[in-house]
Amino acid sequence: MVWQLPNLAALASMLHPGDVSGDWRPEAFPGWCREDAENLVACQNEREDADRVLADFEVVDLEHRAAAATYGPDGPNKRTRYRRVRLSSRRVVISLHQTGVERTEARWRKSAHRVTCNRFIGPTGVRYRVHPLSTRLVATNRFDRKPWHCIAIELGGNFERIDGTGTWYKPDRFGFGRATDAQLDAAFVEVQHICQEVADLGGVVEGIVPHVIAGRDRRGRPNRQACPGSRQWAEVGERAGAELGLAVPAPGFALGGEPVPEEWHGPYWPLCDRFLAA
Ligand SMILES: [Zn+2]
Repeated sequence: MVWQLPNLAALASMLHPGDVSGDWRPEAFPGWCREDAENLVACQNEREDADRVLADFEVVDLEHRAAAATYGPDGPNKRTRYRRVRLSSRRVVISLHQTGVERTEARWRKSAHRVTCNRFIGPTGVRYRVHPLSTRLVATNRFDRKPWHCIAIELGGNFERIDGTGTWYKPDRFGFGRATDAQLDAAFVEVQHICQEVADLGGVVEGIVPHVIAGRDRRGRPNRQACPGSRQWAEVGERAGAELGLAVPAPGFALGGEPVPEEWHGPYWPLCDRFLAA
């Protein structure tokens, strides 16, 4: 009996006639039935999913540098004191941000410790540990205060408010880019690690939010309409809602900022079934 190695992409195209790739000739695999094909495609999908979840991104620990960092242009800022909170006594959420500035990975490597966040994800998917998870930062407005505690993940880059529409903030000044798949995957992996680390510290991550729902200026006007941007929210936030069971903001829910824009919802949105409310 002669075994022929089936072309998985071709089998996939048979199941999903929409996305034909490779040269699929059914007569080349006369012995294969639909069930075999489905099984192989399922195996392949499983592998790809596992790859995505387990893919190991470089981790860089900047906690010591961040703790010693001097803030502001005039040197050390003595007033900078980082307080720690007890995670078990707070409603812990993860917030997603974009820096709004384009820089290469090499440059972020030198400056990520100055970014006000707990975790930073570089454009090639490098995961930087900036501040400990229990450190209270001033990054996500009302989510930084009781009863909440916010763990901020910052994605390095200047991204569109709505993907594919050219809605960058001051691109002539800050540059413009699009998050890489590696960056989005690394951010998702980071969310998984944070959930585990918080559990180890006796807390529980209740949900995940985009900065847009909290960001506002001193006069109470919403001012973070592009943070972290539609693609980042759909591919990291809503994916965490769908696959990790984290709560996402209920439609219309905001805490000082604006509710998640309708255009930000992506493919994982219909799969989200836990919602965050005040
Ligand atoms: Zn932000």
